Amino acid sequence: MALKRERSEQLYKQALDVIVGGVNSPSRSFRAVGGGAPVFMKRAKGAYFWDEDGNRYIDYLGAFGPIILGHAHPAVTEAIVQTAADGTLYGTPTEKEIRFARMLREAIPSCEQIRFVNSGTEAVMTTIRLARAYTGRDKILKFAGCYHGHSDLVLVAAGSGPSTLGIPDSAGIPQSIAQEVITIPFNNLDALREALDRWGDQIAAVLVEPLVGNFGIVPPQPGFLEKVNEWVHQAGGLVIYDEVITAFRFHYGGIQTMYGVEPDLTALGKIIGGGLPIGAYGGRREIMEKVAPMGPMYQAGTMAGNPLSMAAGIACLEVLSRPGVYERLDEMGKRLADGIGELARNYGIPVQINRQGGAFAVYFTEEPVIDYEGAQRADSEMFARFFRLMLDEGIYLAPSKYEAWFLTLAHSDEDISDTLQAVDHAFKQMKK
Ligand code: PLP
Repeated sequence: MALKRERSEQLYKQALDVIVGGVNSPSRSFRAVGGGAPVFMKRAKGAYFWDEDGNRYIDYLGAFGPIILGHAHPAVTEAIVQTAADGTLYGTPTEKEIRFARMLREAIPSCEQIRFVNSGTEAVMTTIRLARAYTGRDKILKFAGCYHGHSDLVLVAAGSGPSTLGIPDSAGIPQSIAQEVITIPFNNLDALREALDRWGDQIAAVLVEPLVGNFGIVPPQPGFLEKVNEWVHQAGGLVIYDEVITAFRFHYGGIQTMYGVEPDLTALGKIIGGGLPIGAYGGRREIMEKVAPMGPMYQAGTMAGNPLSMAAGIACLEVLSRPGVYERLDEMGKRLADGIGELARNYGIPVQINRQGGAFAVYFTEEPVIDYEGAQRADSEMFARFFRLMLDEGIYLAPSKYEAWFLTLAHSDEDISDTLQAVDHAFKQMKK
């Protein structure tokens, strides 16, 4: 039965008047799932959301990634409240920044030196500038379908072939910038070889999500990351890992520490802020020393390293460093993903599920998904139908077929059972 969301609808009308599109980030709108009012949430605790109409949802959005402990985790809340009482922003260095940077370096040793910023966008944007400053080259190579924030250089789509330069993916981005970006399919070493043969001596860096979290969940094929490192270094470029989604999601560290393949620079965000705004970038000391005030590359931030984000991040990582955390996320992820797969088979609904630990993607397609084209081929209408049916079952999924389901430590076995029951109901409707 459809849940009543009258107040969300009223608020959406009000929001449309004063906030462009009614949302402060386009991925929050419901355009990719048939449009209409998004759900306005009022409160969140643990694994649940409550909307403005009083409906409760089990949350698998995880705020697009940062919320891995569950909402309003007591350790994070307490750290924020205590820190706020001592002032929220100083514009001076603080000890917490050192503590937190050390924690990050211990977990991700390739980040010999770190700089905090305010978002994943800023972190990635700065690693690109730094790679350019360090190599004296201008071009960037990235992989189709990966989202790296909204700075100009990464909002460039692939041209017509693997060895063509990019085209702007957003209005307002000059062609001259798009020309500096090459975009090739993920997991495709032939395309990488071709691009490096053609542009290798101009490429400052290859930017890669070492495990893609932006067209579902797509792990690298065995040997892919190793070859990226080897070939890009041979060509004299740097390797940047965008671990904004992946760091601290699957184990206490990054994909780089899980697989043992180190990049030159790393961009971080999301989970490391414990739910507060944050980004960070880090890398080899000799490269990081190009950053002001040490070196010629400028980057700054009024809010960077602010005490609240530091305190929330430290508290979040402390919880994540406890034994059993990632095993629990993996166990729940497996039970839920396997359960969905089994239900889909029973109902004869074609799905592919890609899972890593407590994150997975459900693609409505018959073919395995290893790159963006595969994810694009997944049935958007089926996803939109499924999304709506799940919403009415009180299950909040990200409103896009390209987003992953994220489990948190707050999800219980009962939540998983309830979710599987909701999936059963949804699939039954979809087969009617
Ligand atoms: N990089 C990746 C891999 C992301 O998924 C995102 C956001 O979804 C970003 C960068 C940008 O981060 P932010 O939204 O904090 O600017």
